[in-house]
Amino acid sequence: MIVAIDGPAGAGKSSVARALAVRLGFRYLDTGAMYRALTWLAARNGVDLGDVPALVALAREYPVEFGEGSGVFIAGHDVTAEIREPVIDSSVPIVARHPAVREVMRERQRQLGAQGDSVIEGRDIGEIVAPDAELKVWLYADPAVRAARRQAERHGIEAAELADEMRRRDERDAVNTHQASDAVDVDTTDLTLEEVVDRIESLVHERAARA
Ligand code: C5P
Repeated sequence: MIVAIDGPAGAGKSSVARALAVRLGFRYLDTGAMYRALTWLAARNGVDLGDVPALVALAREYPVEFGEGSGVFIAGHDVTAEIREPVIDSSVPIVARHPAVREVMRERQRQLGAQGDSVIEGRDIGEIVAPDAELKVWLYADPAVRAARRQAERHGIEAAELADEMRRRDERDAVNTHQASDAVDVDTTDLTLEEVVDRIESLVHERAARA
């Protein structure tokens, strides 16, 4: 079974998808981490973020790998912590915007998703990467709550600055953020992580019983 979880930054996707995968015993695939790792590698190799052929070549040559827990690796480097830096937050939409880059990433995401029951988190999963997913969830939250959540992860950055950064990133990502027409909407503004996971888990059991 594939559970697709899409939504904007700070809606709770990563925490929810990870916890849900643990509960269900499913694999967890963080597609945002894949775009982040590619962006990190491009910067490290001095590749211009507008140079599509070079980015495509990098993406093909160095597939992102996931280790135990939440480890993210590319080209032999453990980039788990560095891909969460603000400089990556602001540059990743530039890389993710190129359709040819997305094609390579999506192909890899489909291969990883085909390896077994998976929770796949991103922005275009239910609509484009896994349109046949048995369950699609669209997670969202009030922008102020999203910024506050992000602030808890990014120490030392002002809430107003983060809210601004998130708004800019939302705008840049809008073209590649798709709410599938058959997705179930879950507003996480007033829910705890546990409550969101409970709700999605019961949807998974409902879908499994119907199949
Ligand atoms: O989810 P996260 O904030 O880690 O995603 C980082 C970036 O990767 C997003 O801002 C977006 O530019 C890109 N992304 C994407 N499509 C996905 C997942 C992430 O374009 N499926």
